[in-house]
Amino acid sequence: MRRRVDVDEGLPPVVIPGRILNELFTHALETLPEECCGLIVGDEREPFRRLVRCRNDMTQLHRSNPERHPRDGREAFHMNEVDYRDVIEQAEDDGERVTTVYHSHVGSGVYLSEIDLEYAESTEFPFRQADQIVVAVFERRVTGVGIFQRTAIGGPFLGRRLESQGP
Ligand SMILES: [Zn+2]
Repeated sequence: MRRRVDVDEGLPPVVIPGRILNELFTHALETLPEECCGLIVGDEREPFRRLVRCRNDMTQLHRSNPERHPRDGREAFHMNEVDYRDVIEQAEDDGERVTTVYHSHVGSGVYLSEIDLEYAESTEFPFRQADQIVVAVFERRVTGVGIFQRTAIGGPFLGRRLESQGP
């Protein structure tokens, strides 16, 4: 059976500033028909302070090596390394860290797929402490969003609803 992590509706939601959620939804709609991806930077006091878009390289990887990368950017994401290294560096300079990785699902729901879990668990993945947000887009509209929190560093994820509050 395929592994996947869904949102547990029984858990209380995680609160995120409205402007960050808006930026996230805008990015997801602008990158259609492909998945978007990016990072959210902050600290313990304010985990969702700023959102930084990253390029999704999956279509390029798929074209250059379809055997190794059977899916393109419509079905998967692979964050551009130059983009995310810049974000990590800037965050460290500012005394912040990458708290959250986000990406969208086009034409499907809010969950971490088998591929998402494999990517998050791979040694090349640089955000083994970060949570993940998934935004679902269906027929050019955002249909859902959720956050998947690490229960330990590099450990399993727990899915929760995400609610906006304030600016
Ligand atoms: Zn995914």
